Amino acid sequence: MGKKNLCEWTKSDLKAKPGKYARLVLPPRYLCTACGRVASDADRLCKPVRLSDPTSS
Ligand SMILES: [Zn+2]
Repeated sequence: MGKKNLCEWTKSDLKAKPGKYARLVLPPRYLCTACGRVASDADRLCKPVRLSDPTSS
């Protein structure tokens, strides 16, 4: 435990810990196709897919 899935964050979690949220999300590398969130780490999301780099295409 201790490592909370980003997909489980609630609005009150966001209000309480915006800085922690930012550290989990930035830089955004993965998209959760189940709930549309992004994270820097695939194992924070329930259905992660790698985001392509928009600057490399
Ligand atoms: Zn999710």
